[in-house]
Amino acid sequence: MPIQFLKGVGPKKAALFARLGIETAEDLLWHVPWRYEDRSTLLKITDLCHGEECTVVGKVEDYRLIRTRRRAFTIFEVRFGDETGMLKARWFNQSYLLNLFEQGQLVMLSGTVHKGRRGKAEPEMQNPVFEIIDEEIDQEPIHVGRIVPIYHGTRGVSSRLIRVLINRLLDQYLGRLSDVIPQSIRKRLGLTNFETAMTEIHFPLETSECEGLNCGRSVAHQRLAFDELFLLELGMGMKKAGIKKRDTGITFQCGGPLSERFRQHLPFKLMDSQECVIREIMTDMESSYPMNRLLQGDVGCGKTVVAAFALVCAAESKYQSVVLVPTEILAEQHFLTFRRLLEPLGLRCSILIGGQSKTERGELLQGLGDGSIAVTIGTHALLHEDVDFKRLGLVVVDEQHKFGVLQRARITAKGMNPDILVMTATPIPRTLALTVYGDLDVSVISTRPPGRPPIHTIRVSEFQRSKAYRLILNELQKARQGFVIYPLVEESEKMDLQAAASGLEKLKIVFPDHYIGLIHGRMKPSEKDAVMNAFIDGEINLLVATSVVEVGIDIPNATIMLIEHAERYGLAQLHQLRGRIGRGVESSTCILMTAGRGSPETTRRLNTLVNTNDGFAIAEEDLMMRGPGDFFGTRQWGLPELRVANLIRDVVLLEKARTEAFRTLDNDPHLAHPDHAGLKAVLYRRWKGKLDLIDVS
Ligand code: ADP
Ligand code: MG
Repeated sequence: MPIQFLKGVGPKKAALFARLGIETAEDLLWHVPWRYEDRSTLLKITDLCHGEECTVVGKVEDYRLIRTRRRAFTIFEVRFGDETGMLKARWFNQSYLLNLFEQGQLVMLSGTVHKGRRGKAEPEMQNPVFEIIDEEIDQEPIHVGRIVPIYHGTRGVSSRLIRVLINRLLDQYLGRLSDVIPQSIRKRLGLTNFETAMTEIHFPLETSECEGLNCGRSVAHQRLAFDELFLLELGMGMKKAGIKKRDTGITFQCGGPLSERFRQHLPFKLMDSQECVIREIMTDMESSYPMNRLLQGDVGCGKTVVAAFALVCAAESKYQSVVLVPTEILAEQHFLTFRRLLEPLGLRCSILIGGQSKTERGELLQGLGDGSIAVTIGTHALLHEDVDFKRLGLVVVDEQHKFGVLQRARITAKGMNPDILVMTATPIPRTLALTVYGDLDVSVISTRPPGRPPIHTIRVSEFQRSKAYRLILNELQKARQGFVIYPLVEESEKMDLQAAASGLEKLKIVFPDHYIGLIHGRMKPSEKDAVMNAFIDGEINLLVATSVVEVGIDIPNATIMLIEHAERYGLAQLHQLRGRIGRGVESSTCILMTAGRGSPETTRRLNTLVNTNDGFAIAEEDLMMRGPGDFFGTRQWGLPELRVANLIRDVVLLEKARTEAFRTLDNDPHLAHPDHAGLKAVLYRRWKGKLDLIDVS
């Protein structure tokens, strides 16, 4: 039922409700309180204590409206009494209250108690929350005298109004809503029924623990959170099943002579966790379903060589592949790496980025069209419509969080159901990954290549700049290399570039005996190339860079990094940046420099980095601080909104929900059983059109 048809709403208010994302009566029920106030303990007037939040019941003795001299505002004053004393309440600028109160009425009031003015005995409350107790209709109070729900409102829709409407809704309709969670599941998990949970979350009983309610861990919260997570996982499960059934993918032949040669030429022994992931990928590629796999692993754990294995496999079966990356620098870096790994096997590699000359591009497109180029590394430029392949069989997406779902759909459309391998260096707990990344299967590289000491991270302020420089000099004198990172954000790009450029000049004076280079996103590809190559060859000792180096660059000799204005980055970003060092056997140092002392939040963020090198721990902390919506860009993923559940806090519940949802679908893949009719209806309502977008992930 559209919200506008609820008594007391109408079209105008309905528009306001829409701002809160509330369009139907059902939405309103799911608009749960964001906190609760315990106004349940009733006191006598004589027991009121100055400065405390109290609730009392008093009888209206008299009232008056006072206008200030310039009529700028009004004060409505009421004197209440009970058998122990008198209490004065004042409301400012609410003259309409004049029409509400009558002598002799019983009213319940909640507010902070003040001593009467000039030491008079009568205590006062200002703008207390109140509820007129209607003695004729014997109704439970909802605004005071109980644990009271507080709702997020908006201009014109107060928490109080929401409370009234929800109370009425619960009264009128709750008995008619069916519990869609199958009884067997409710029993197994010991969940309360829907009706109780809905009532309790809005109007908790006196005996409820306010604390549990306020942190979302009450029995009611858990039940309703389960509903949301269960529906989420059901949707995921149905999508996943749909894809498996519909698409026939390529059946690759893996593990032939080419793969063998590749393995023999590797300069190191693969770690067990790499071997394990490679096996998972091979199994996917050899099957007739299209692979849809997410490869998670911390920065520097060795994802690239795993991806290369998949590329070799595709080539072995005479298919072409692409590696899609978010920045040109990363494309160039990967191009160098993959060329080194693959060209000895006779595989032709190419790079496709913006700003290439017409002839260069023409040659490239021809090679892609006639199938002579086996592997192409590229940026968004790969998505351009004139890019056509003869036999595109494998798409690798690096640093997946930078790409939208739609972009991935565009690249896969260039092949015939190609296999997809998505790599991310922002690892998150497995169940969470399975959920937010939709129908992707998840593989994890859980270890790092051996013999790499952890990166030592320190925080310094501007005032300790000379200390930072000493540390850098120390490394440079040992013939090591380093980075100085300047932030670059689009809004202040010009100033940021200036800061980087003037930083470069200063550093040249501080380190006169060393070569210092500059690289930033606004340089021409050929210029960037030249600088990168000089850095790789060791001609540049210290590289000043804007955060364009964020992902992917692999220079084992780089052992020190200074990050200017560390307070301007997010946790994950800092961890990525830091991952550019510590790639060799020498110990490395990362210096986080902040302008001032920084906010408590900055301190917390930076301390996390100082304390740990573990990407999983950092991602979890990041998630916790930013919330899942911001972290994942939930909208981009097409997930339905969660109003009670919290993907981080409720991760244990999420796991249960996933198990139950998949079990349910195993028994009844289309939810066709009559027992599941209600569930199915709610599922489609909850996901709306969003089930489609998950499709292309
Ligand atoms: P990321 O996962 O961040 O993409 P890379 O794939 O760039 O990490 O790997 C980081 C470095 O570790 C590279 O220099 C790579 O050659 C090296 N490496 C990868 N696997 C191993 C291994 N099994 N043993 C030793 N070094 C390895
Ligand atoms: Mg990488």
